[in-house]
Amino acid sequence: MPFSHDMVHSLATVVDLVNSPPGDLEELGALVLRRQVSGVEFVNATDLAEVQTLSAAFHEVFTSPDEDVAVTRLNTLLGRTRITPSLTRHDGFALHVHYFAPGASLAEHLAADCGVALAHVLVEGEWERLRTCSAPDCANVFVDESRNRSRVYCDSRTCGNRMHVAAYRARRRA
Ligand SMILES: [Zn+2]
Ligand SMILES: [Zn+2]
Repeated sequence: MPFSHDMVHSLATVVDLVNSPPGDLEELGALVLRRQVSGVEFVNATDLAEVQTLSAAFHEVFTSPDEDVAVTRLNTLLGRTRITPSLTRHDGFALHVHYFAPGASLAEHLAADCGVALAHVLVEGEWERLRTCSAPDCANVFVDESRNRSRVYCDSRTCGNRMHVAAYRARRRA
């Protein structure tokens, strides 16, 4: 996919946010650290509630039945978000664009950067790359970045491996 490193990072963040919605402040803090969300000093209960709501809203975008619905859902999310593009260099990262507004809350920060990244996926005509794992017992979402859009599992090492083993056993029984 012709996406910049920064976009790829934002897409990984939204996938993480949807698949592992923080259940408490500790998990929210861990998410901030894991995803290197810049400029967040501390998190509170309001952040937690807002981020949980945002996680659900992004999940809806990933599980849209078609492209039009995905567009509508993403536009609704973006319409609630203050967005101020700003070129920045920080913490040793190359020049890149931040989309969140000055003074943005954690949820606004994530909504802006992840929302714009998803908007680019849709603009590129790549809506179908927003997927849900094909393993029957897994509801994880992922962005298929494979060249031929062939990825079906959220993680080849876990779900992919498990399903291949199951298929192998089924063949042996047959
Ligand atoms: Zn940055
Ligand atoms: Zn999975």
